[in-house]
Amino acid sequence: MSTDLPSTEAEQTNPSILRLIECSRCKLPFQTPLRLPCGKTLCRACMPPVRRRVGISYPGTEDRKLGFSCYWDGREHCLGDCGVDVLMGRLVEVFLQYTTQGKLELEFELELELEQLVRAVRAELDCQVCYALILDPLTTPCGHTFCRKCVGRVLDHSDLCPICRRKLNLPLAVEKEPVNERVATLIEAWFSDEVAERRETLAENEHEEEGEGEGEHGGDGYAGDTLPLFVGALTFPMMPVFLHIFEPRYRLMMQRVMASPSRRFGVLAFNRSGAPQGELGLSLPFMQYGTVMTVDRFELLPDGRSLIVATGLSRFRVVESRLRDGYYVGRFERVTDISLSEEEDAEMAEVASRAAALSRESRENLESTEEADADSSEQQPIPLDAPLESLSTRQLLRLCLDFVHKRQEEGVVWLHPRVRMAYGEIPDDPVLFPYWLATVLNIAGSEGYTLLHYTSVRERMKMAALWVRDFQGRGRQSSTRKVSAIL
Ligand SMILES: [Zn+2]
Ligand SMILES: [Zn+2]
Ligand SMILES: [Zn+2]
Ligand SMILES: [Zn+2]
Repeated sequence: MSTDLPSTEAEQTNPSILRLIECSRCKLPFQTPLRLPCGKTLCRACMPPVRRRVGISYPGTEDRKLGFSCYWDGREHCLGDCGVDVLMGRLVEVFLQYTTQGKLELEFELELELEQLVRAVRAELDCQVCYALILDPLTTPCGHTFCRKCVGRVLDHSDLCPICRRKLNLPLAVEKEPVNERVATLIEAWFSDEVAERRETLAENEHEEEGEGEGEHGGDGYAGDTLPLFVGALTFPMMPVFLHIFEPRYRLMMQRVMASPSRRFGVLAFNRSGAPQGELGLSLPFMQYGTVMTVDRFELLPDGRSLIVATGLSRFRVVESRLRDGYYVGRFERVTDISLSEEEDAEMAEVASRAAALSRESRENLESTEEADADSSEQQPIPLDAPLESLSTRQLLRLCLDFVHKRQEEGVVWLHPRVRMAYGEIPDDPVLFPYWLATVLNIAGSEGYTLLHYTSVRERMKMAALWVRDFQGRGRQSSTRKVSAIL
């Protein structure tokens, strides 16, 4: 392994080495360094004054209600996105082992000592996903650092941090996420040869992978993997589906699914209208967006048919497909939501601009509720004609919950105890609620399909609220097809 040792004299080197781990505010080695969403690092004590963020109701957890204006870019950063930078914290510890009173102890045998320091630092810089030197270090909101590419690969099949299992809260398109500047500078300064080597091997590997990519991995979910596809149902994440498998091609497919370790398959709706489906074009019988399902229960009937209960894991988009023994298999990408901070920005912007656009009188009303802080405005009754865009995400949920609880009291058939046993009790989580509502109301076709490609919790909650308003307005009855199947 080649290491680029700084070749200057000790007197010149020492201060510049220490600068690598110095806070640019207090000019001291970082103390409890925080990771900022813009890629900068700051001691916790050097953080600008924290204030309450307004106009945000979702997710609305305590740490997300506080924020500050960034010294560097002036943007509002949410406290919940500024986890302790674990790697920078470790690097400071390593540096300080060679330091007394703020000076590096490198006076004797400079080369040897420095080499030891460089080696100790290098030992901290392996990515915990690929176990090689971290390339384009991306620090997650929970404070863990990986190669940016590795985070992208993780996000393809999970939204949890590989180290601490906390939610990653990053958008799927991580190429746009800024790297951890301080860690990147350190790696570039000391290990530039290894970085160049890494980039080269990576480029070669990618080239090779393009030639392969035909394997069926039971759909464990890395981009580029294929998934067997069942066409003919609209299903949602976290929701169960009950399938009756009788066609020979799907019997074969399910046999293979059951033999695979993950028991996963994709479910897609028919493309009834024949609308073009992204890069898939016109020729295929299914819609492009669907849900990855995992089999919970499989009952093989004596005549070869089977009954299957499967639960939705995540949404996906087919990017390429081919026929295999009569059924489709598809290469796919996972569909994930925008990051929480984008979600909050969208809510804030929409609710504020709607409020500004409203007539003078109603604006005055809104202002008086705003004064009383978001928490108490959550308790205000929601006017029946309030535009959905003007409501906070929590208010949208409340509008829906009020409706569903009222219908439950009335004993409607689509909220029969058996329906709730099958699909779960009324959820008060805005992520889950729209999927649940679409399932129990059996909202089919393009309306329900929107939930599969909308990438924001708020957009899906608005859709759910629209259905609720529609129901209230027309007093329409849900299709009882699915319900009678359960009862
Ligand atoms: Zn500081
Ligand atoms: Zn910033
Ligand atoms: Zn990596
Ligand atoms: Zn983590």
